[in-house]
Amino acid sequence: MLNTRNFLATRRDAGTHSQQELSEFARLAARGEIPDYQISAWLMAAWLNPLSLQETVALTKGMAESGERLDLSELPKPRFDKHSTGGVGDKTSLVLLPILAACGLTVVKMSGQGLGSTGGTIDKLSSIPGFHSDLSPKQMVEIAKRCGLALAAQSPDLAPADGVLYALRDATETVNSIPLIVSSILSKKLAVGAEHILIDVKVGSGGFSPTLESAQELAKWLQEVGKGCGIAVRPVLTDMTQPLGEAVGNALEVGEALAILRNEPLSPPSRRFKDLVLKLAEIALETTGIKADSSEALTSGKAYEKAEAWLRAQGATQVDPTAEMMVETTLTAPKSGYLAKLDAGEIGRIVQQLGGGRAKKADIIDLQVGARIHALVGDQVQAGQPIATLYSRNELPKQILDQAIEIFDSAVTAIPALIETAV
Ligand code: URA
Repeated sequence: MLNTRNFLATRRDAGTHSQQELSEFARLAARGEIPDYQISAWLMAAWLNPLSLQETVALTKGMAESGERLDLSELPKPRFDKHSTGGVGDKTSLVLLPILAACGLTVVKMSGQGLGSTGGTIDKLSSIPGFHSDLSPKQMVEIAKRCGLALAAQSPDLAPADGVLYALRDATETVNSIPLIVSSILSKKLAVGAEHILIDVKVGSGGFSPTLESAQELAKWLQEVGKGCGIAVRPVLTDMTQPLGEAVGNALEVGEALAILRNEPLSPPSRRFKDLVLKLAEIALETTGIKADSSEALTSGKAYEKAEAWLRAQGATQVDPTAEMMVETTLTAPKSGYLAKLDAGEIGRIVQQLGGGRAKKADIIDLQVGARIHALVGDQVQAGQPIATLYSRNELPKQILDQAIEIFDSAVTAIPALIETAV
């Protein structure tokens, strides 16, 4: 039986926890048998004296074992999952996963709701009439067997210790600790039986890791802790200094993803996003050892057919999201020059404030608000050229995006969407 006070003292004094202690801690926390004040004290001590790699592996396994485990053994291999650390305009899963399913991978994915300025896949999909993501484990397996792809909301029964710890981390300013982030992400993956995971670590103001160094450190930990837990983690580092693609906001992002899957003509920001998705698909195919042509899966329409079958299997009565008339505010370039900044963090926060994102877990969001981005960092722009359009319920001041952009007189280098493919 865990002696909680000794356990806290060990962390406070930067000692070492045993595997058994961490597993017991996760189990008791999930069952509500450790008071919040003691868990909170431990979290702060763990933020100040970070867990070692070995301790993080033990905590991850303990959190995964704190609830149900999904049995995917009936599903064909390779079984693939993808995770993003979260970003602005990040609708990658909506395009990548149907492409991979069309290439023969089985994809079973749990997704979270968006929190803060980064969006969540479940929220985006809820803009499609009839679509539902509250699948039981049995339904997930059945849909994945039929369509090669199933995507469900986070179940409170899977890795429940993470639910308890995450809520307290949020309340005690202890979210941004690498061992705590890594154990939180990977415990949920372990609980759903993931074998191969592509983890997209976003680098820049619109995501968790503002600098390349912090993203590389997170990627390295994800890979190492994954190895310790028997999951093949392939981290990639991608740009999040500017929004990804053209659309930011739930229904708008689904519309952009469908336009790519339908091979419609694309704007330059959408093309940059599509190119990134195809590169990620190649990496996923290479790491799972599948020989298939992801580009052909897209251009032939097979990926769109997969997406349609999957969305309908999860209740969609139509594939396109509902669209409403919105008030449009277009930001234009104040002068001619080169676009040097299109700040993803700032744009994400504005869309969140328009109602597109949550400040608290229980907030209800507006699926229709958002932004369309018309230019990319590095572009030469003329005074008066549209840079971004906001879609809102009410009139907005023209200056609302002024802080998000910067224009230089001299040439600016474009930013590649894919920064690093391996650590
Ligand atoms: N995503 C998670 O699931 N957990 C974290 O701690 C951070 C991001």
